[in-house]
Amino acid sequence: MTGGPDLTVVDAASAPAADAARVDADAVVDQLVDRAARASRVWGATSAAGRATALRLVADALDDSAGSLISIAMRETNLLEGRLKGELARTTFQLRFFADELEAGQLSQATIDHADVNWPMGAPRPDLRRHLVAVGPALVFAASNFPFAFSVAGGDTASALAAGCPVIVKAHSGHVELSVATAAVVTTALRAVGAPEGTFALVTGTENGRRALLHPALKAASFTGSIAGGRALFDLAASREEPIPFFGELGSVNPVFVTRAAADTRATEIAAGFLAAVAGSSGQLCTKPGVLVVPAGSPLLAELQEIQQLETHRLLNARIESGFERSLEWLHGNPKLTTLAHADGTPAGARGLSLYSTDANTFLEHAAELAEEHFGPAAVVVTYNDEVDQVRILREFAGQLTVSVFGEEADTAIESVRELVQLAQEKAGRVLWNQWSTGVSVTYAQQHGGPYPATTAPATTSVGAAAVFRFLRPVAYQGFPEALLPDGLKEANPLGIPRRVDGAVGVTR
Ligand code: NAP
Repeated sequence: MTGGPDLTVVDAASAPAADAARVDADAVVDQLVDRAARASRVWGATSAAGRATALRLVADALDDSAGSLISIAMRETNLLEGRLKGELARTTFQLRFFADELEAGQLSQATIDHADVNWPMGAPRPDLRRHLVAVGPALVFAASNFPFAFSVAGGDTASALAAGCPVIVKAHSGHVELSVATAAVVTTALRAVGAPEGTFALVTGTENGRRALLHPALKAASFTGSIAGGRALFDLAASREEPIPFFGELGSVNPVFVTRAAADTRATEIAAGFLAAVAGSSGQLCTKPGVLVVPAGSPLLAELQEIQQLETHRLLNARIESGFERSLEWLHGNPKLTTLAHADGTPAGARGLSLYSTDANTFLEHAAELAEEHFGPAAVVVTYNDEVDQVRILREFAGQLTVSVFGEEADTAIESVRELVQLAQEKAGRVLWNQWSTGVSVTYAQQHGGPYPATTAPATTSVGAAAVFRFLRPVAYQGFPEALLPDGLKEANPLGIPRRVDGAVGVTR
């Protein structure tokens, strides 16, 4: 790799009020994006092996700093140590996972069509060679609820860096100290490996995020957070003279449907799994099941009514606490809902699990409001009499990250269950059978996305190997001499990567 070592963590650009300070902050943000644009050519052209080495070094450095990072995270986010340790391990795994993907040569999707005068289309086929290249500087809006895995060095940053895009992270205001500390670790590691100046930077401050998003040199942005915030930023990205892709993950209720047979057979197990999924991380997961649809009169409902309070902890920050208080005010005492459990706040500021129920007809009549996300440890149970009601209920939901169905073997032949599963894949990016949606494994086949408002880009994922494709764009070379082709598309395949040649998949020639 080439380039200077001067990677700077910038958190000084957070100046809020005074006009003069704003002007200064704007200049700093502009400078950062300009630097990222300059770094883009070098980082984008850095070999896959070079980028893989850099990602691994960042992962190692984060592991080495685990103790101090986790203690800051505990203080700033109220999340528990075990959860944060697991999350950091997931984060460093993710960086190494993308390093492996780079080395496997999978990311460029090189495709070669040799010229063919007999191409049956009716006209000769020219020599065409297509691969993916980095889109350019990317802005990552870090999430509040995953201070490691969806934050400064999280999946968006890892996949953008793997793609060859310099990254500017907009720190989440809920964990600024952790963001600055994590950015320092990332910066030092990238500096050690000789990444070009401008490959990575951090900004804090809401206005600075907007400024960076509007900078003409920026080429893509990603986001995890609220529907209101994500939509505002998506609209801002689209309003630019050159609109850029905005990969926002906004909101999801993740409904769960339980067939009568499953409720009769596994009431205790399903009730316990549901309560654990709602209470985990105090309900602050984008994949928390927010609505459970169960047969009326089933033992499952009785199990839920016997609710044992599970351990929850204080919510992430004051903004999320006040949002959840508003949710509870709306849910509690709502004439359309019956309260199954309503937890008061503890002296330590935690909220227990709150559960409310309604019947299918009421839900269907008021679906626009009852199918809303409530970020925190609360959920709504909907009872149905007719199995087909499950399909009617799911129809009312907007785009989701996940839809889960709990059923028995015999259910797979029931028409309404098959229709439910068919509808689930229309509504969601991930459909689960007898599993809870909360865990999102980092794998090759993972899909974490879905139709709006789950995301603003339903063809993409923010978790798993395919997350990198958000930051790549295809280029085809037509009729080029060998000497001018990029290595990945040269006839001799000097990189030895798998390619699709004349339609045949996975060849290494
Ligand atoms: P948020 O308020 O949308 O903030 C996310 C990021 O976007 C922050 O960096 C924030 O900046 C920035 N931002 C938001 N609105 C903006 C605007 N109009 N202009 C410029 N920047 C803007 O999300 P949050 O704080 O993480 O959580 C709030 C709610 O989001 C939760 O209660 C929950 O409903 C939802 N949420 C959903 C998911 C999910 O995965 N679907 C995850 C987390 C949260 P600042 O930090 O500077 O304000």
